[in-house]
Amino acid sequence: MLLQKYLQTIDNIDPGKIYVENVRSLYNLPRFAARLMCEMAVQEHIFTKKIGVVCPNCNRIIEEFDNINQIPETIYCHICDAEDAEQNTYKTENLKKEEYYKLLR
Ligand SMILES: [Zn+2]
Repeated sequence: MLLQKYLQTIDNIDPGKIYVENVRSLYNLPRFAARLMCEMAVQEHIFTKKIGVVCPNCNRIIEEFDNINQIPETIYCHICDAEDAEQNTYKTENLKKEEYYKLLR
């Protein structure tokens, strides 16, 4: 089964951040099939889905959430703060959000 094969190769990928794109390119699948595979893995408790909020200034994921409803209105980036950036709190509605999966162990 594809998923089993994928798990064998997962050491080459950050298990904390598996993008649909990773799965897609690994198997040369259409995007919808790769997404379906990830969603199946969630159903089977192999993966958990996360939404990462990306900082517009330092481009790092500030915080990750289980679903969109958990994202607060504003978010504080401690990396920007540590680097003395002009701004360290951002309105989340304007920020880029990334969807990815984590491997459950
Ligand atoms: Zn930042």
